[in-house]
Amino acid sequence: MTSENDSLPGDFVRDIIDGDLSSGRFDNRVHTRFPPEPNGYLHIGHAKAVCLNFGIARDYGGLCNLRFDDTNPSKEEEEYVNAIVEDVRWLGFDWQDRLFFASDYFDRMCEYAVRLIETGNAYVDDLSAGEIREYRGTLTEPGRESPFRNRPVDENLDLFSRMKNGEFHDGARVLRAKIDMSHPNLNMRDPVIYRILHASHHRTGDKWCIYPMYDWAHGLEDSIEGVTHSICTLEFENHRPLYDWFLDALDIYHPRQIEFARLNLSYTVMSKRLLLELVRSGSVSGWDDPRMPTISGMRRRGCSPQSIRTFCNRIGVAKVNSTVSLEFLEHCVREDLNLSSPRFMGVLDPVRLIIDNYPEGESDELDAVNNPEDPSAGSRKVTFSRELFIERDDFMEDPPGKFYRLAPGREVRLRYAYFVTCTGVVKDGSGRITEIHCSYDPATRGGDAPDGRKVKSTLHWVSAPHAIDAEVRLYDKLFSVEDPLAGNPSDLASLVNPDSLKILSSCRLEPACASLGPLDRIQLERIGYFCVDPDSSPSRPVLNRTVGLRDSWAKLRSGQ
Ligand code: ATP
Ligand code: MG
Repeated sequence: MTSENDSLPGDFVRDIIDGDLSSGRFDNRVHTRFPPEPNGYLHIGHAKAVCLNFGIARDYGGLCNLRFDDTNPSKEEEEYVNAIVEDVRWLGFDWQDRLFFASDYFDRMCEYAVRLIETGNAYVDDLSAGEIREYRGTLTEPGRESPFRNRPVDENLDLFSRMKNGEFHDGARVLRAKIDMSHPNLNMRDPVIYRILHASHHRTGDKWCIYPMYDWAHGLEDSIEGVTHSICTLEFENHRPLYDWFLDALDIYHPRQIEFARLNLSYTVMSKRLLLELVRSGSVSGWDDPRMPTISGMRRRGCSPQSIRTFCNRIGVAKVNSTVSLEFLEHCVREDLNLSSPRFMGVLDPVRLIIDNYPEGESDELDAVNNPEDPSAGSRKVTFSRELFIERDDFMEDPPGKFYRLAPGREVRLRYAYFVTCTGVVKDGSGRITEIHCSYDPATRGGDAPDGRKVKSTLHWVSAPHAIDAEVRLYDKLFSVEDPLAGNPSDLASLVNPDSLKILSSCRLEPACASLGPLDRIQLERIGYFCVDPDSSPSRPVLNRTVGLRDSWAKLRSGQ
């Protein structure tokens, strides 16, 4: 078995597959599927399922289908289908020619329903939804049989075909499987398999006014596609008997359902319904808001597909639900960006620094390393001049003991350039510093003193006349609380972290940044990793901060 180099060996799902391969259960085939419902954009939880299903197909030399589970017309849209296709592709997976839609099987599902009726395994029920619920019983009490349960086959066939032909209004009748109203598993108490719904479907239009229920449809979809292992999340564990019952009752090809624990992540929510609520309430700018745990949001934020795959592989596959810390996701993102992103200098909160002994009108081209982690990335020239910008908080007029950056009388290094010593400051009427004055030592060109003297800090800078203006968007956790769903909040939007987005509009970047394109990922030295937002224009880049440089997860691990 070959694996992508970052995947961990083995998990219980692969153990099951190994067992099936050695027993010859599926003729040595491994065929999985990723089956999103197109009712929203994919999130990082879906990425886990994508990586698992496509990863298994890759590792075993099998196949993985992309299948839209579009059985619920009222919530599904073309926009979501397109976004999901884009996201799975961006994550790096390929379904070749196997892009399927559950709605393509509606005719076959209907034929299967007729077969269930014919074999006495299904009946048309006239009870209302409320009555069905009432008749269902509870965990401690058995259900009651519907008075329509023992309709003759012919009557069921006639009513079902009239349901299909649109003779009845929504909710008037349903088709139910005839299983066992006193079954200890409530899912087995004559589940509904078809409902009447006069609604247009994004693919089948007005052809249908009955739609299959999820439990009925899903196993049929898997069976029709020849899937061997139908991997789903834990909440379907007690639906498995039903999955098996349908396939056995129809006596058709029978895949194996395996359940794993869904991913939960701290400080965010992982449900399309709730994410849609945030989009609709305007709490975020859209599904691809960089604060969202969606794949499109993470892409816009600057996470690479590799880092998301690494994260999904490292968290592994388990049988017990748990919550992964957001810091661990950020750790994986940072680790990948550290290896791959070119470095630039940029100043987020600029203050002018004037080098009084540097000749006016002149400039100097200095060598800067593009990526210390990747020698093949080479170097570039950065322009130095008499007037620079540095970070306002890299200077203190009256520094406390542990502040080693620039202060009056102190010498520091300007990255790739020279040592400078602060000689004074200029303030405006309100006492705010407007200029920091320095002298430089020409002998320290490149950033080292020939006499071996040391400085305690190195600052990043940009040349004032050469720098380009930029907007920088700083992101923080989407929610203020670790578990936004604890206590069932009625208004999720009120828990959104008010500091989750800070816009800085007067940043300055080194001129080389002008050549960056949308979604390029970079490091601004000493500040963090950033991604060029699609809102950018060449004359005014907009950068999204992906993550800062500080790795709080690694710190936690090393016990600091
Ligand atoms: P949501 O509640 O976000 O809508 P869902 O399970 O209803 O999630 P689907 O579109 O039905 O969304 O999911 C497609 C696949 O992704 C399913 O196989 C599902 O089990 C899996 N999946 C969804 N959420 C997660 C998650 N948080 N972790 C792992 N897998 C997930
Ligand atoms: Mg769903």
